[in-house]
Amino acid sequence: MRISEVVAGKASQDIVTITPDATVRELIALLTRKNVGAAVVSTDGSRLTGIASERDIVRKLDGNDAALDASVAEIMTSNVVTCGPDSTLDEVRTIMTDGRFRHLPVVDGDRVVGVVSIGDIVKAHIDQLQFERDQLDHYVHQS
Ligand code: AMP
Repeated sequence: MRISEVVAGKASQDIVTITPDATVRELIALLTRKNVGAAVVSTDGSRLTGIASERDIVRKLDGNDAALDASVAEIMTSNVVTCGPDSTLDEVRTIMTDGRFRHLPVVDGDRVVGVVSIGDIVKAHIDQLQFERDQLDHYVHQS
């Protein structure tokens, strides 16, 4: 299965983005409103500058009361690992497991075309296993 199919099968194809000069306070409000764990950081809404997740917020807030007014640029990860629409489910699962992150932007050329979470990947994998199980079941009971 290709990642483009996983993105297309999501309930929402929304890409939650924030600009690097927004504050951590604004990032928290955005993640809460959109009910997601990470935002793509972009100045123009489509090209990737970084990624900022709940984990980055927690790290910055620990023992630092002024952190809410820090900029997203100060807490984000700039060195973002991405995949393409043609990447396979297995490739992406390995990338996310090895990198220990739960979000992966899908990039086509220089534009972000989707974001998959580890939850999306686990769900797609379970759906695929269920489909294969049903096929085998059908085959065994037919013959
Ligand atoms: P997460 O598990 O996605 O909440 O992120 C854990 C840490 O990895 C945070 O510091 C994120 O900024 C970073 N991170 C999340 N996704 C990516 C990614 N695709 N590439 C590089 N770093 C990431």
